[in-house]
Amino acid sequence: SSNNLQGYAPICLGLEDFYIRRLYLRIQDCFGRPISSAPDAWFDVVERYSNDNNKTLIRTSKISRCLNLGSYNYLGFAASDEYCTPRVIESMKKYSPSTCSSRVDAGTTALHEELEEYVANFVGKPAAIVFGMGYVTNSAILPVLMGKGGLIISDSLNHNSIVNGARGSGATVRVFQHNTPSHLEEVLREQIAEGQPRTHRPWKKIIVIVEGIYSMEGELCKLPEIIAICKKYKAYTYLDEAHSIGAVGKTGRGVCELLVVDPVDVDIMMGTFTKSFGSCGGYIAGSKELIQYLKYTCPAHLYATSISPPAAEQIISAIKVILGEDGTSRGAQKLSRIRENSNFFRSELQKMGFEVLGDNDSPVMPIMLYNPAKIPAFSRECLKQNVAVVTVAFPATPLLLARARICISASHTKEDLIQALEVISQVGDLVGIKYFPAEPKKQ
Ligand code: PMP
Repeated sequence: SSNNLQGYAPICLGLEDFYIRRLYLRIQDCFGRPISSAPDAWFDVVERYSNDNNKTLIRTSKISRCLNLGSYNYLGFAASDEYCTPRVIESMKKYSPSTCSSRVDAGTTALHEELEEYVANFVGKPAAIVFGMGYVTNSAILPVLMGKGGLIISDSLNHNSIVNGARGSGATVRVFQHNTPSHLEEVLREQIAEGQPRTHRPWKKIIVIVEGIYSMEGELCKLPEIIAICKKYKAYTYLDEAHSIGAVGKTGRGVCELLVVDPVDVDIMMGTFTKSFGSCGGYIAGSKELIQYLKYTCPAHLYATSISPPAAEQIISAIKVILGEDGTSRGAQKLSRIRENSNFFRSELQKMGFEVLGDNDSPVMPIMLYNPAKIPAFSRECLKQNVAVVTVAFPATPLLLARARICISASHTKEDLIQALEVISQVGDLVGIKYFPAEPKKQ
């Protein structure tokens, strides 16, 4: 096969464990490399090579400067920022990197309380609780919210942190077809009659879990339709905005703002600080009663060390910039930049003949490779030309739906994007992944 650049055609034939393991070694060799700078528009990638048996990866000190199309640095805050960085340094001096204590012991600083207020106001809910890790926010909260006798209805492509949280909760879990409101209704109808009061049905509680932007699909949630169905069947809604908060909406307030949904209609809003805010941690925002309940009962609040103070300061400062409270219009500029960059990049890729998933305005852009044997070739050929692209495959996607996932940032310049497009186009021809005819270039 002409696509068999790296000699991995056998994977198409056998898909046996042996080949999959060999393939993963190859993938390891392409991405997943150590980075030695901030994950900005360009970053430093440490070169690695494998020994002759392909068994061990040896780190070298050689570093390449690469155009970064892999990090979730949507608004460009994950680099030195004139407003955030001095404040983060100050908070580091004042509080140290860690509180060395849980929130209920000695781990609540003024920053933690300020952060919760800022987050609640930003997402349009009465209260919020923050955690040191986005993944844990889902996986620890769901078992607190739901238990035996409860029903969780989850989108089939929800993130692993949701899947694990749902499984660990002890509730019954049903899955509906990805982003398909009509199928959600079918699943609900199998469980309860329309209009049946909450007190007269076989489930103590029903919760429907969706994401704002799906991280492997780049697709926006059909939130208005899903909310209408949840209201009809009196189910609670849980919205994970990891990839949408800060990244979409006129003022960065996520899919609710973009799709004109009142946050009142979403019962539980979840999000992470690891993408648009360039920090770490996660939040749940909701009613005062819900947040109070979580503060009394959630083990990740009671027993885990609280979010690092400098990380909390980074989030507060980033929200202030987004809201213009730093006294500049940089936040608004970042928001229009991410939108323009995303829409430009997506439409150029489509014109070149690539199959690109996702919706306009979404900074997540999966380019379909399909055959997992194309992953190493695509990733490595891009890297040879100093463009770092993350490729994703089984088990994060179905086996034969491998893809390269581009993440666009407000910190990419137009020149960066044009350079990336040229490289991706050449590599796309080489690897054979332009599935549609290219649009003729305008003179
Ligand atoms: N939810 C979704 C939808 C995610 O994509 C991720 C990770 N990318 C998480 C939760 C976990 O967040 P974190 O990486 O901040 O731990």
